[in-house]
Order: sequence, then C-alpha cells, then structure tokens
Amino acid sequence: MSAMLDSTAPPSGPLTLLREDLRDFGGYRSARSERLQGRIWLNANESPWANPADADGALRRYPDPQPQALREALAALYGCTPEQLLVGRGSDEGIDLLVRAVCRPGGDAIVVSTPTFGMYAVSARLHGTRVIDVPLREADGAWQCDLAAIGDVALEQGARIVFLCSPGNPTGALIPLDGIAALASRLEGRALLVVDEAYLEYALAPSALTLMQSHRNVVVLRTLSKAHALAAARIGSVIADAELIEALRRCQAPYPLPSACVDEAFRALAADAVATTRARVATVRDERESLWRALGGLPGVRRAYPSTANFVLVRFEDAQDAFERLLAAGVVVRDMRAARGLGDALRISIGTPEQNTAVLSALSGGRA
Ligand SMILES: *Cc1c(COP(=O)(O)O)cnc(C)c1O
Repeated sequence: MSAMLDSTAPPSGPLTLLREDLRDFGGYRSARSERLQGRIWLNANESPWANPADADGALRRYPDPQPQALREALAALYGCTPEQLLVGRGSDEGIDLLVRAVCRPGGDAIVVSTPTFGMYAVSARLHGTRVIDVPLREADGAWQCDLAAIGDVALEQGARIVFLCSPGNPTGALIPLDGIAALASRLEGRALLVVDEAYLEYALAPSALTLMQSHRNVVVLRTLSKAHALAAARIGSVIADAELIEALRRCQAPYPLPSACVDEAFRALAADAVATTRARVATVRDERESLWRALGGLPGVRRAYPSTANFVLVRFEDAQDAFERLLAAGVVVRDMRAARGLGDALRISIGTPEQNTAVLSALSGGRA
C-alpha cells in the first residue's frame, strides 16, 4: 500500500487505469481507520451514552468501514482472498465506485451491451461519462454478446470500463468464460472488464473470478441481494486485484455499512443458512425450467427465453393484455417494453411453486 501512495513509484497493473488525479488520493481518514488501542474512546464525537431506543448500545459508535469477519466470510463464499474483496452498499455502490474511480468526471466512456441492467448507464450518466452501447444480438432464440465488437469499440474509443452482465439481466443468458478471457486480454492495460454476477448462484457455472489470476483487469461483482435473500441489507462485493480494491476503498464513503446489516449478513453466511440458500436456489432452478417450458407452450406467447438466472424473459403477442391479466390476478411482473428491442416483453421472476402456478393460470385463463 505504501508503494502505491508513493507518487514516485509508477503504478502497475490495473492501477494504471485509475484516474490519474486520484493516484495519490488518500480519501477521508475516519476515526475508525486509525489503528489505535484504548479504553476510553473520545476521538469520533460519538455520544458516551446509548440512545434509549438502542437497548444494548449496539448503534452508538460508528461502524467498522470494512468488517474483517464479514470480508473473510464473503471471500470464502466467493473464492478469493479478503484483500481482493470490497464490501459495499449493494453491487450498485460497486458499479458507482468503479465509474468514479476510473473515469474522469465529465469525460471518458464505458461500454454496455443492451438490453442490460440499468445502473451501469445511470452511474456513468451521473458522472458525465459517455455510454457506448454494443447491443446484444439475438439469433434463434438465444442472446449473444458480441465480445469481438465490444473489444473493437472499447479500444477504438478509449473506453475505460466494459460492463458485462452474466447471467444477463433481463435476458438470463450466460456469457462463456473463454470469451470473457479473450476480451480481458485485448483490454489489458486499457480498460477494466467488469463482470456482474448478481445471478451466478442460479447458473451452476464457474465465476469469472477464476480469470483474475491471469487477467488483472477483470473485476467481478457479487451480491447478497438475490439468491441470499438479503436485498434490504444492501451487501454487495467488488472482487478485483488487491491494489485496485485498496484504491476503491479510498474513494468509498467513510462508514458505508450499517452495523445491523453487517451482523445480518454475517449470520446469513453461517453454514446452515448457506445450506438453506443452496436448497432454495435448487428449487428455483427446477421451477424455472418448468415455468419456462409451460410458458413456451401457452397461446399468446411468442417466445420464452431459456434462462440461467431466477427470472424468465417472455415475448407476447399482446404484452399489455398479459400484463393486465397478471395484475388482475394480483401478480406484478416487470414490464420490459420500454427497453430497446423488447417492445413485446415481460420479465417474470421465479417465485414459490404456488406463485408460479398463479402466473400460469392468470396467463392461460380464458384462453385454454
Ligand atoms: C439486482 C442487480 C444488482 C443489484 O444488486 P445490489 O447488490 O442489490 O445493489 C446488480 N446487478 C444486476 C445485474 C442486478 O440485476
């Protein structure tokens, strides 16, 4: 770390991609980041008494910026070292941090492949960074990410970050790791290749973090919001080269993680909780296959795309009618019609077996 802060040492690896004006940026020095020992803590202007509503006084002090126990548990879950992992307020914060740390405000560019998760473009837009779109291609009912075109465009236009979503939201399509590795090689020293794996648990596929050993510009995003059922705790991880993680940490808010959320997340990573999560993921996969098959056979359905995530993207002859039928049955699904190329599509999350039956009966009612 000291070598990195020393502005005379040339940056190496993915640190060369950090904004030049941030290379010697120390960020905010929070009271909790000083490694001091003491009995009476009077260094952070906290109250010496607990709030009456906070019975055990758990909330009186500022939380640890990066709680080591949670970092270790997440690293073990995902298969990296704690130094390669930054915990943040959902992967949404990870996306935002990456954009802010790597792209110049009001400049530079990122590459996305639509239809995709909206937050990459939102973060870039808020930062004044251009968004270059290399749309997914659809052939014979399969979505394909044109990795060669993405590489060409990113290099030609000097993009600083390429965001891939695998499994893709809203398509459910997985991007093969060998393609990601080849793109990472082309972008080496030129751009970060961020692989958002918010739904990887549902895919039974290896993570792109297996590529990090040989491709230091690969960054992986994981979250506890989906398969681990902790969306409200806002716990997401950025996994990357340890030096890049340290640099991102300096750009992050001083106390990003509320201690109550950290405690919940830590409990959710205990062996019995993880076993339950795995069993539920298996149920979702079974349900996904049967829902997909059944949807594909319904009248009025143009196409139901095979999915490796916990949702199915479906095109309808009359998407408005399908949306309204579902709503009349009390079922709310995601209307995708505003997304480019998806003017007839809805995205349906996989629910419990009973909920999925409700979806099918609402869509087949009056038609069967
Ligand atoms: C839901 C989702 C996220 C957001 O995750 P948080 O950790 O809750 O911020 C990130 N990426 C994709 C593709 C998602 O669908």
